[in-house]
Amino acid sequence: MAIRGECLCGQIRYEVEGRLRDARSCHCSRCRKAFSGQASAYALVDANEFRWLSGADLLTSYIGKHGFGLQFCSSCGSTLCGIFEGVIHGVTLGCVNGDPGVEIGRHIYVGSKAKWEVLAEGVPQYEEGVPDN
Ligand SMILES: [Zn+2]
Ligand SMILES: [Zn+2]
Repeated sequence: MAIRGECLCGQIRYEVEGRLRDARSCHCSRCRKAFSGQASAYALVDANEFRWLSGADLLTSYIGKHGFGLQFCSSCGSTLCGIFEGVIHGVTLGCVNGDPGVEIGRHIYVGSKAKWEVLAEGVPQYEEGVPDN
C-alpha cells in the first residue's frame, strides 16, 4: 500500500509507491531552525517512487549549502521533503498520514541539541497531555 502525506492545510499531497528507509531525528542547530522544533524527523525515499498528487505549484524551496534543500508549503509552512540537487531524497515524518512503516532508528547530533531540549530517556512520558491531578 502506498504511503501518503500532506501539509497542514492539505493543499499539497504526495504518494510514495514503496518503502521509506533509514528514519532518523537530527538535533543539530540547522535542523532546529528548519523544522522550528527541537529536532528534525525524516526518512529517506527513492525519488522514482515519489510523486506529488496535488498542490505541487504551491511548493517553495529553500536550498542551503552543498545542494541540500527543503521544500515546504507556501500557504501553511509545513516542511514536506528534503531535496538534493533538485531531486527528492527524503520526506518529513510529521507530514506522513498514518503509519509510515518505519520508526526512528537513531537520534543524531544529540551533542549539539538545544539547551532547552530534554531527551526522552528517563523522562516521564504520557500517552496524551500531562494529567491535571
Ligand atoms: Zn499547506
Ligand atoms: Zn540536522
